[in-house]
Amino acid sequence: MNKRIIQISAPSMGIEEWEALRQPIESGWITQGPMVAAFEKDFAQRHQVQHALAVSNCTTALHLALLAAGIQPGDEVLLPAFTWVSTANAIMYCQAVPVFVDIDVATFNIDIAAINNKISSRTKAIIPVHLFGLCADVNAIKQAYPHLVIIEDAACAAGAALHGQSAGSLGDIGCFSFHPRKSITTGEGGMLTTNDAIIAAKLNQLRNHGASISEEQRHLGPKPYLLAEYDVVGYNYRMTDLQGALGLVQLKKLDAFIAERANWAAYYNNELQSIPWLQTPTVPIGYTHGWQSYVTLIDERIAPLKRNDLMEALQEAGISTRPGTHAVHMLGAYAKPFGIQPSDFPNAYAANEYSMSLPLHNRMAKEDYEYIVAVLKSF
Ligand SMILES: *Cc1c(COP(=O)(O)O)cnc(C)c1O
Repeated sequence: MNKRIIQISAPSMGIEEWEALRQPIESGWITQGPMVAAFEKDFAQRHQVQHALAVSNCTTALHLALLAAGIQPGDEVLLPAFTWVSTANAIMYCQAVPVFVDIDVATFNIDIAAINNKISSRTKAIIPVHLFGLCADVNAIKQAYPHLVIIEDAACAAGAALHGQSAGSLGDIGCFSFHPRKSITTGEGGMLTTNDAIIAAKLNQLRNHGASISEEQRHLGPKPYLLAEYDVVGYNYRMTDLQGALGLVQLKKLDAFIAERANWAAYYNNELQSIPWLQTPTVPIGYTHGWQSYVTLIDERIAPLKRNDLMEALQEAGISTRPGTHAVHMLGAYAKPFGIQPSDFPNAYAANEYSMSLPLHNRMAKEDYEYIVAVLKSF
């Protein structure tokens, strides 16, 4: 076998993205403007929602979603213990209390059965995370806890769906990421989705310094001496039109990207099923996976190497891997102040210790996948 160098992830951009940047650069309109508006319109349509609002990244999207949902200091917000750290950080920005819930290791998503004994009279919202592009069972959460605001962390889930219903349209507010590690990218970038016009108006105001222009002002037309009203303390979380132009092009490629990834995920599943120590990802019936990542679980009791040694051996063979993500309850910012032990969330702990993400992206060749399978089979 000839050694190949394979990255864990790489954005797929071409001449169309170069061309898309031409218009904002030539027109000089590079802050949030017509390109962002067009990107939002297409994104809303693709994800079956009334409103889509672009922001600077998914972390700021989560922050604004919590604020627009009315989360106050001291309110409790549920989230899975195995997720990217910013799901929890956004809750901290609101001086609210992150309440971790264990995950199901088969899906890496929040364990619905573990939610119940984390609910208190102060629980206001829940952030189900569609980890690695597989939707969490938002319908079950909605049914069991109709009083909770549901904010989907759909950072990894552009194009994913549950029973044909798009990620971002399942709960009250959806939050997407366009970081280069995700399926489509704008460098950095995020998107908020909602079907609620009042929430959309709040999000719109909060992302733009708190500015609101009354309907009356809009109808009266331009009055250069009039500034907007600033009745709330807002943020500058806007997306640039350069990013909006990229997003428009990337979104058109989303379905093709996912189809290609799904194809290779099926190839991996099929080829790797003969390796007893490697658990491949499951896709429950009715779920459309977005395949942001292909995450396996190593059974160290029967594996030839420990997870970390295996990852090192793969690195030496030119294959880049990563742990799926981290168990946030084990990170210093949360474990210490909240007095949490790793064993408090045993499944999140196991995912933290034994998960391994294999390369799956739109700049890989057939030979790359074949090489990875061959190297894994050689252990
Ligand atoms: C990537 C990611 C985020 C953060 O997205 P940014 O756009 O980088 O802020 C949040 N949650 C999850 C689950 C993610 O994977």
